[in-house]
Amino acid sequence: MQNSTPISLTKIANSKLPEIDFSSLVFGKSISDHMFVADYQNGSWGDFRIVPYGPMEIYPGNATLHYGQAIFEGMKAYKNEKGEVLVFRAEANAKRLNESAARMCMPQLPESIFLDALKQLLAVDRDWVPQGKGSSLYIRPFMFAMDNYLGVKPSDTYRFMIFTSPVGAYYSKPVSVKVETTYTRACEGGTGEAKAAGNYAASLYPALKAQKEGYDQLLWTDGKTHSQIEESGTMNVVFKINGTLITAPTHGGTILKGITRSSVLQLAKDWGQAVEERFLTVSELEDALKNESLEEAFGVGTAATIAFINKIHIHGKDYLLPEVAPDAFSKRVLLALDGIKYGELQDPHQWMLTI
Ligand SMILES: *Cc1c(COP(=O)(O)O)cnc(C)c1O
Repeated sequence: MQNSTPISLTKIANSKLPEIDFSSLVFGKSISDHMFVADYQNGSWGDFRIVPYGPMEIYPGNATLHYGQAIFEGMKAYKNEKGEVLVFRAEANAKRLNESAARMCMPQLPESIFLDALKQLLAVDRDWVPQGKGSSLYIRPFMFAMDNYLGVKPSDTYRFMIFTSPVGAYYSKPVSVKVETTYTRACEGGTGEAKAAGNYAASLYPALKAQKEGYDQLLWTDGKTHSQIEESGTMNVVFKINGTLITAPTHGGTILKGITRSSVLQLAKDWGQAVEERFLTVSELEDALKNESLEEAFGVGTAATIAFINKIHIHGKDYLLPEVAPDAFSKRVLLALDGIKYGELQDPHQWMLTI
């Protein structure tokens, strides 16, 4: 493994691997043996280390706990039939972390450090990458403020870490969603575009409320008028109406620039599938449900890749979607993405990084 970033390695004394039942993994519960840590001080990143996963000390005055300067990424590694470890679009995650950092007044992390750390961590914990279609190793890179200071200002010191968690075959049961017209995930000028921890904190209450009403997730609308569809839960959302895919544009600052979204749109383009990047209004969606021109609706994100939507609640009414046909775009694009991720299909856009 050629690495330009000098990373020290302290190996775990007793691997936790024998305790893991790979046939019944619960998302986010089992954490791999090691983690990567880097500290930012005096204007630069250093002290690069891979150490056993475990608790760490921070001061009660840690700025993250009070003012929430915290961002993260989510990505996955897969094992192909030869036992090689492949990571999906890692450069895109490294780049997006820096875009989030810029919005939150946090320092840029050179992409080479992100990628070298990721490669070395995955090399150390490669036995944690589950084999078998559907299983993967979830990767969580994140950065947070480290100043022990109560004044409101951007922190001077930060920590960047990566740890990983094996996840089992994700059976993507279709989800029901409720169009949210009271609460707001993101508004113009806000932090919706950044993968910031606080965005998630703010979304928990409305999401829980919807779950109590019997819906799996929300369909977020714009903060100003609540008339345009933005995202679904923690995924981007795509609709297919009269043969055309429609998904919200990501240049307005309120929509997270999903890497799954951009991959799905790239494949649609490759296949000559018509795509419109524009806001779908709630009333257009309601009309399409009433006159049955809505053919497909699905969330797109790293966790599920494609989450089929089977029910949409709008203004007090539930609408059921047609059963997803085997040749539906959402089914075909899921097969294509899985094929690329597990190294079974050609990777025409060089999305996979082999460790
Ligand atoms: C992470 C995230 C997504 C999906 O992004 P991917 O890169 O596809 O995983 C979509 N919306 C929000 C709000 C997110 O945080």
